[in-house]
Amino acid sequence: MAHPRVLPSLILLAAASIFPIHTGAQAKSKAAAAPPPAAAAAPVSPDAAVFQLQSEALAWLQALIRINTTNPPGNEIVAAKYIADILQKNGIPSEIFESTPGRGFLVARLSSSAVPDPSRALLLMAHLDTVGVDKSKWSVDPFGGIVKDGTIYGRGVLDDKGPLVANLAAFIALKRTAARLNRDVIFLVEADEEDGGEFGMKFAVEQHWDKIACGFSINEGGETVMKDGKVWYVGIQAAEKVASNVAVIATGTAGHASMPTKNNAVVHLSAAMAKLGEWQAPVQFTAVTRAYFQGLAAVEDTETAKWIQMLESPDRGDHAARYLSNTNPFWNATLRDTVTPTMLQAGIRVNVVPSEARGNLNIRQIPGNQINDLISTLTKVVNDPQVRLDLQPGGREASPNSSLDSEFYRAIVKATATSFPGANAIPMMSPWATDSDRLRMRNVQAYGVIPFPLSETDYTRMHSDDEQIPVDSFNKGIAFLYTIVSGFSVAQ
Ligand SMILES: [Zn+2]
Repeated sequence: MAHPRVLPSLILLAAASIFPIHTGAQAKSKAAAAPPPAAAAAPVSPDAAVFQLQSEALAWLQALIRINTTNPPGNEIVAAKYIADILQKNGIPSEIFESTPGRGFLVARLSSSAVPDPSRALLLMAHLDTVGVDKSKWSVDPFGGIVKDGTIYGRGVLDDKGPLVANLAAFIALKRTAARLNRDVIFLVEADEEDGGEFGMKFAVEQHWDKIACGFSINEGGETVMKDGKVWYVGIQAAEKVASNVAVIATGTAGHASMPTKNNAVVHLSAAMAKLGEWQAPVQFTAVTRAYFQGLAAVEDTETAKWIQMLESPDRGDHAARYLSNTNPFWNATLRDTVTPTMLQAGIRVNVVPSEARGNLNIRQIPGNQINDLISTLTKVVNDPQVRLDLQPGGREASPNSSLDSEFYRAIVKATATSFPGANAIPMMSPWATDSDRLRMRNVQAYGVIPFPLSETDYTRMHSDDEQIPVDSFNKGIAFLYTIVSGFSVAQ
């Protein structure tokens, strides 16, 4: 985007890094003890604010990468305090709520009126924790916050510290421009997303809903996809699959390996896992996945588009689904429930036949499908009285889809057209889980957008090695997110 040549100087008052941290039962009473925020600087124009924030935001991202929040143990509060300090310096008070020592969430609000209307409020959310690293596979220090050849590297730059910083920059831009808001905008950073959310979003939603109650939210989960040097489409996550784990347990007679028998548990488990790995659930469409494929047909090459358009035709549908599933694992995961063998466990000694062998299936279902129905189907697929399937605890309930016609969805589509002319906005169902599900359960229209224009290869580095974002994409993402947020929340 174009930037003004002359930037108004912005004087930031260095503020003492004092902010309230609420723990357990004291939370409510301490909330009133927030120190007064630093004085705000004179308002700047949106273009100037975004331009200025782009360079500040890179330093924030580097600093956040250097704060190791690998979960477990998380230690997210250290990062939350760093963010509280940035907000404080920008004249925005924030509160930190601890779910357990060292973990919890930070929340801040820009109010539109004296009487808040939670049903209109927009929540900008992201998580502070990251998955771990295999340092030996990285070309740079994953916690160094290193910028090399115009690219920033580090664990969490994509998932989810980069998107977090984009939210923070958009939020601060509203403040610096003294935007006249038509709804409250709430900024939330939370914990424990990578390990179930018990100490993060579950805690926030169940115990402090009053702090984050909203009608609309933006979170990770989508993608802004580049191809041939320009934005190809923006995938807006409007639904997510539901994960469960099912143990596959084979039992047999223990004995000496020198005298094998037919009921060896290892053999029965292996046969069962092979059948389960081959099995495919039938193709199914929801409002979101149908719209996803329609949107994709408009941007894909002619050959692929032809098969996408055939997906629901009675005579060619099966062939089209097979072709598309084999072409792209994401399409396969969008078309059906998936059943993925992930673990095997058997035996204690090389010469002993064990009495039990266990495997694990990681299952991702289209929202609305029932896990018990799938387990009975899979039990028939295995068809072995020595093998049983046991649902493991820890599964989440299915959340409803977000609307593809809400005012916020339309605002994201409009911002896409403004920021990336020619690019389509396409709704999607993510096969991965995000914390948006807990909001959708509370009737929030929640959407996932990662605003940084990246190649499909860049996106595969989430949870993997050398996670990275070109600084140019990072800057474009900040501007895009600000366009979305300001377009929806600033009075015209
Ligand atoms: Zn994430």
